[in-house]
Amino acid sequence: MAIKIGLIPGDGIGPEIVAEAEKVLLAAADKYGFTLDFEKLLLGGASIDATGLPLTEETVEKAKACEAVLMGSIGGDAKTSPWYQLPADKRPEAGLLGIRKALNLFANLRPAYLYDELKDACPLKPAMTENGFDMIIVRELTGGLYFGKRYTETVNGLRTAVDTLTYNEEEIRRIAVKAFDIAMKRRKKVTSVDKANVLDSSRLWRAVVEEVAADYPEVTLEHMLVDNCAMQLVMNPGQFDVILTENMFGDILSDEASMTTGSIGMLSSASLNETKFGLYEPSHGSAPDIAGKNIANPIATILSAAMMLRFSLDRDEAADAIEKAVEQVLKEGYRTADIWSEGCEKVSTDRMGSLIAERLR
Ligand code: NAD
Repeated sequence: MAIKIGLIPGDGIGPEIVAEAEKVLLAAADKYGFTLDFEKLLLGGASIDATGLPLTEETVEKAKACEAVLMGSIGGDAKTSPWYQLPADKRPEAGLLGIRKALNLFANLRPAYLYDELKDACPLKPAMTENGFDMIIVRELTGGLYFGKRYTETVNGLRTAVDTLTYNEEEIRRIAVKAFDIAMKRRKKVTSVDKANVLDSSRLWRAVVEEVAADYPEVTLEHMLVDNCAMQLVMNPGQFDVILTENMFGDILSDEASMTTGSIGMLSSASLNETKFGLYEPSHGSAPDIAGKNIANPIATILSAAMMLRFSLDRDEAADAIEKAVEQVLKEGYRTADIWSEGCEKVSTDRMGSLIAERLR
């Protein structure tokens, strides 16, 4: 039976990069003997243009009927696009927040991987990355400080702002389970990052993560304080496999980790809910400055498609093959403009997609 996949081309370079991911997914499906049935969904600016709203009930319902959704990116140039004349809750980004909420996507996955061929783009000293790195940050996305009660009041004549950081054990358990499940598909190591020397929420975090770890005897668990983790990410990134952490720490650490790879066009991401369902998208935005020029790097979206095969569809073999095909094409010296260097062949968005799809055949 065909596997139903939602495709959100979105805005800016979105349609160009999603088309290449679709091409690669079809090649993988052909090779590994499964059938994909794509359904195009509207979100963001494209949805505003078609319906007046950045997210419609129809898109939510259609997404829910899919096994996973692959997205390009949404949004336009805030200075010139008419979408940004609209009230905040009618702008493209409101659509993205809305769909994440509607689908209850509480686990955010951001891999950071250093390709041998792109080592020059890595801002770290070669000694720090001699053996490369390959990690995935699993960030809790719907709780913690960003979702706690907040207010500003005057106390004793002074303006005083309060934000609250709350986690209950169930919220911690479900994200920890995701991290351990992912570790089982990788090198079986989880580094849980917290601030347990100061925060109560972190002490509960640690206790619940320990409980979950008991169900995964094959996985090695270590705890690390967030300040130490921030240092270790630039000193010895190769030590990490799966980093599990709460919302705000994950927000900061995942940006830090992704910068160490040096190339925004290569970074995939996923947001998952309690089932196998996930929304997969590149970490970068819609790059309106290069939209329609056929020069965007489609690899982050193609790698997001590989993640979708692995984490939502359990097609690990096909996911591995896509990742190998990307590596192969880079080894052969093909580069889009954003990662191009002397001696390499510069290729367009669609040529890069075709090269990766061809390496799968
Ligand atoms: P951006 O990531 O779109 O672009 C930053 C820079 O990186 C630009 O110079 C761009 O050309 C380049 N770039 C990004 N992706 C690239 C790719 N695949 N290949 C080659 N170069 C690439 O960030 P921005 O300019 O701050 O945001 C543009 C729009 O994207 C905004 O509307 C923003 O809200 C939106 N955005 C959407 C998402 C999302 O859909 N999840 C995420 C971030 C930003």
